[in-house]
Amino acid sequence: MEDCIFCKIVRGEIPSTRVAESQWAIAFEDIAPKAPVHTLVIPKEHIAALHEATDADREMLADCLLLCNEVARIKGVDESGYRVVTSDGPDGGQEVAHLHFHVLGGRKLQFGV
Ligand code: AMP
Ligand code: ZN
Repeated sequence: MEDCIFCKIVRGEIPSTRVAESQWAIAFEDIAPKAPVHTLVIPKEHIAALHEATDADREMLADCLLLCNEVARIKGVDESGYRVVTSDGPDGGQEVAHLHFHVLGGRKLQFGV
């Protein structure tokens, strides 16, 4: 996707602070963190949102969640706890139309964030 900002981050055309990488996904710091730990995990291939995922995306989705797990370990919140969130569509508050998982932690989270 030419104009997708997260595809540009995957391609290295927009700078990001990389945290980790797996076969299917990358993790980088959210530019406007809402918690002490706020890292985004996104698939390397463009997919707009979770509702577009199909059976063919099983491996990618599992890989994304396992990378969230690794991010939590790297950030040192795997034992204190964390939250993984994906926003889908207008009512879900999705701003960037490239599937992403927020990994949030480092403080006691409220409902929402
Ligand atoms: P959402 O509202 O779930 O679509 O989340 C989009 C997230 O992407 C927000 O938390 C933004 O702060 C974050 N974001 C937007 N642009 C960038 C960027 N260039 N680098 C890192 N994070 C970004
Ligand atoms: Zn994209």
